[in-house]
Amino acid sequence: MAQTYFITGANRGLGAEFVKQLSARGESVIATARDPETLDHQRDAPRAIELDVGNSESIAGLAGRVGAEPIDILINNAGVSSEGKSLATLDAVELARVFMVNSIAPILVAQQLRHNLARGPRKLIVNISSQLGSIANNAGPYGGGSSYAYRASKAALNMLTVSMSHELKADGIACVAMHPGWVKTDMGGPQAPLTPEQSVASMIATIDRLTLADTGRFLNHDGTTIPY
Ligand code: NAP
Repeated sequence: MAQTYFITGANRGLGAEFVKQLSARGESVIATARDPETLDHQRDAPRAIELDVGNSESIAGLAGRVGAEPIDILINNAGVSSEGKSLATLDAVELARVFMVNSIAPILVAQQLRHNLARGPRKLIVNISSQLGSIANNAGPYGGGSSYAYRASKAALNMLTVSMSHELKADGIACVAMHPGWVKTDMGGPQAPLTPEQSVASMIATIDRLTLADTGRFLNHDGTTIPY
């Protein structure tokens, strides 16, 4: 039976690829974007919702717009990179912008859709994070330091994911943080080794296997564990 997926930032990059692959296998997809005109919903997503995750007022109206419909899987995908890569280029406005979209919005969206998720048979929240948010790896194979705002926003998202996993376990809702790999999108750039098709196919295969026993994990796209 088709499951209902709710996807943020669905108009390009990994979000658009999620819509494409999930729709192709017959799932029901609610695709959101800050400008719904940019969603190719005729071809991919029969249902489009306007949602600017950089604006808490836009998120606050979400529950009312979705109504009582059960949602199986929420994929908090929308994200931004940052010019705040060194102490010299950081400022409060930039930090707040990146934290709003990458850390705060996913939790506010989950807050809005909590009752829809509790009604859905699958009960799963996937927060698209990044290996750059791993504190343990911040001196490891991907180099240390740099990208202050982006790294910190994804580390915060990871912490919020774990906190939410504890609270929502009682409702049977699992929450995970997932790294998509380094992917050729506007954000990942042309040097990235993975295509959006490969990354999303791998993430969907992992998502298909997740159960409540996985709640609170930080996963690579292939389901292996990334240290927090
Ligand atoms: P992308 O190609 O830059 O796409 C970003 C998406 O987020 C776009 O749909 C964009 O919509 C949306 N978005 C940004 N700000 C928004 C806002 N205020 N409201 C609604 N939507 C907003 O990036 P991507 O590579 O697909 O990234 C998707 C996720 O994967 C992000 O969370 C990113 O941090 C994560 N990630 C990516 C990589 C990689 O290598 N690509 C690696 C690790 C993690 P607009 O068109 O309206 O801007």
